[in-house]
Amino acid sequence: MAVFIQSRREALRLLSATAAVSIVPPAWGAKGTTIRTVSGSIPASSFGFVLPHEHVMVDFIGAQKTNRSRWNPDDVVAVMQPYLLAAKQRGVRGFVDCTPAYLARDPLVLKKLALGTGLHILTNTGYYGDAKGLYLPPSVQNETATRIAARWLAEWENGIEDTGVRPGFVKIRVDGLAVAPTRMSEMDDKLLTAAAMVNNKTNSAVICHSPGPSGLSAALRFAAKGGDPGKFVVAHCDDNGVDLNQQIAVAGSWVSIDAIGRKTEAEHLSIVMPILQKSPRQLLISMDSGWYHVGEPGGGKIYDFNALSDRFLPALRRAGVTAAEINRLTVENPARVFAL
Ligand SMILES: [Zn+2]
Repeated sequence: MAVFIQSRREALRLLSATAAVSIVPPAWGAKGTTIRTVSGSIPASSFGFVLPHEHVMVDFIGAQKTNRSRWNPDDVVAVMQPYLLAAKQRGVRGFVDCTPAYLARDPLVLKKLALGTGLHILTNTGYYGDAKGLYLPPSVQNETATRIAARWLAEWENGIEDTGVRPGFVKIRVDGLAVAPTRMSEMDDKLLTAAAMVNNKTNSAVICHSPGPSGLSAALRFAAKGGDPGKFVVAHCDDNGVDLNQQIAVAGSWVSIDAIGRKTEAEHLSIVMPILQKSPRQLLISMDSGWYHVGEPGGGKIYDFNALSDRFLPALRRAGVTAAEINRLTVENPARVFAL
């Protein structure tokens, strides 16, 4: 049984706790050992090969117009299930759905897909802020971080809306100021503060959509607000460049290279290898794929979840990455970051 240490803080806590007594690995169910899927909790050791950033469905019409009447859940399940099964055939066991509230997060669709495929599927709480505020109801814009965190924690405890499905992580988006992406807007700051509050109470991972320099600022801000940097995932780091990604890792957070399949294998190798060599325990890879587009007939063009298994993992092997290193990247790292 693997014992994962979540953070420097936890390492210190473990050290002081074990100073006087012998080291006893925590039982499953203790902190850091369970993953919360849409179908309930599982041991982190059963999570398996995980795609840590994907989307079953997305609706980009905006918070004021999106609602459940805009899609037929059965149609979404019928269209998307074969894609999930194709991923499963390739060895995938865990699927982290990163579609947030007000962009067609539908826990019941995910639950049906989990039942139909046997995959461990996660959904999220949190808000997708953006500079124009398109994906948040105006009422949220004026709320305090504490009020926002209380709503996310209510979902965490009681489930999302009336579905009874509980989220397994927090998903946010912050952009930084339009004129200075390394500086956080008031809304960004509230979302990061609320995420830190929820992380403190639940040990949940926080995935933050924030490509470019705002990602590092977000990670630092989250930690300054008391969040555990070892649970903070900066999403969409593919075009950040080696230095910025290294700084995110040095800050103690996760670098998520999640557009595998959208560049050549050689291009993505040049992005992934430097992180793999210096900070292998802070790297996640995924495809940001799928996307049943609400509003388009049959969900429009769907992107499969196969590029990572079919093309990129073989490219890593050809580049000399060992089976153990690939296992750490695709199995151990996701288990560590999503374990509660
Ligand atoms: Zn995404």
